[in-house]
Amino acid sequence: LPVLAVVGRPNVGKSTLVNRVLGRREAVVQDVPGVTRDRVSYPAEWAGRQFMLVDTGGWEHDAAGLNARVAEQAEVAIAMADAVMFIVDATVGPTATDEQVVRMLRKSGKPVVLVANKVDSPVQESDAAALWSLGLGQPWSVSALHGRGSGDVLDAAMAVLPEVSGVASPLPEGGPRRVALVGRPNVGKSSLLNAIAGRDRVVVDSVAGTTRDPVDELVLLGNRPWWLVDTAGIRRRVHQTKGADFYASLRTQAALEKAEVAVVLIDSSVPLTEQDTRVIQQVIDAGRALVIAYNKWDLMDDDQRHLLERAVEQDLVQIQWAPRVNISAKTRWHVDRLVKALDTALGGWDTRISTGKLNSFLGELTAANPHPVRGGKQPRILFATQADSRPPRFVIFATGFIEHGYRRFIERKLRENFGFVGTPIEISVRVRE
Ligand code: GDP
Repeated sequence: LPVLAVVGRPNVGKSTLVNRVLGRREAVVQDVPGVTRDRVSYPAEWAGRQFMLVDTGGWEHDAAGLNARVAEQAEVAIAMADAVMFIVDATVGPTATDEQVVRMLRKSGKPVVLVANKVDSPVQESDAAALWSLGLGQPWSVSALHGRGSGDVLDAAMAVLPEVSGVASPLPEGGPRRVALVGRPNVGKSSLLNAIAGRDRVVVDSVAGTTRDPVDELVLLGNRPWWLVDTAGIRRRVHQTKGADFYASLRTQAALEKAEVAVVLIDSSVPLTEQDTRVIQQVIDAGRALVIAYNKWDLMDDDQRHLLERAVEQDLVQIQWAPRVNISAKTRWHVDRLVKALDTALGGWDTRISTGKLNSFLGELTAANPHPVRGGKQPRILFATQADSRPPRFVIFATGFIEHGYRRFIERKLRENFGFVGTPIEISVRVRE
């Protein structure tokens, strides 16, 4: 889906506008200082068109260096987007920070819809007109609060938003495989990056046929080149302040867009946190191959390791399909084992099974384990096909609604039979009466 990002300084009314777009479907927390929203993008629809709306509004309650951070946030959001809605407070006029964002927008070359917000009455139209000076074309005046003009501005955004995303997909084919190192702050991402890239950095020009993004690094791992994507986000330290969570999540999203496989780092020395689980979920939602790396293994004694192994089985019961390695980024212990895990996960991610094989497998499976009878009816599976790989996507045609538990059962059996190690699987069902 094409990506539309909403960018602007704090308090210009981003949340209000985002809520207008989303309708009331998503409860977006508004104007509650200290409450961070962890979602970065929302599926949205306007005038029959579907797109992803990237909302940077959750990441603003930060006392230190606010302006610098707005710029950073805008930079990431712009990079992720196919088109940008840039919101300026018309009652204040453009500030130095706004000017800074304008320069980034120009440099990006992406289509921009300039929104002059807080034009609550016609008297204020002249404030909006003053924003022509930004050189971003027509300022669309709206009052997000009253809803005035927000339909027009969305129409304008739809007019410049491409039908197909140029940033989200498709991933570049061929060349070294693209890895994202992700995980909540302090799990050891930059330590791992240093352990890998610090020593064995290869000369970029030696690998032909790949365009290089300056924030990606080419490294040698297991004697082969790999792209580590979006490493600038790891090298640039994020301070441990309130907005940092949201910023980290935005960065993860940006890295996942570009990666084929993600290594989720987890700190072995502390219990699994909700934030760890969220990062894992982000990888799955992005449809990327997944490797779990328990870092800081060196901090644990034998007893602790034993206990942890047991806890991990419980903690990660939902993603038993993901390869897991225990490492120490600090001592480089078992870092080389990541290679095998990455290969395995990518192997699963790439897997495609033929329609013939799939249907004979499903035929036997459903004959032996039919769908439960519901309301006197028993939905039957007619036919299935793997519509896509990377990640594997299956479409099942059935005579009725296939319930969630049965889908999970099919997923599990597909994994048992065909591998699919390290990759999320999508199953959608089409009902034919
Ligand atoms: P990031 O925020 O995910 O990039 O985490 P860092 O790489 O900055 O690591 C956070 C802290 O954990 C630092 O103090 C590191 O020295 C420490 N650390 C990272 N990896 C390891 C490890 O394998 N073992 C130990 N003992 N400490 C580690």
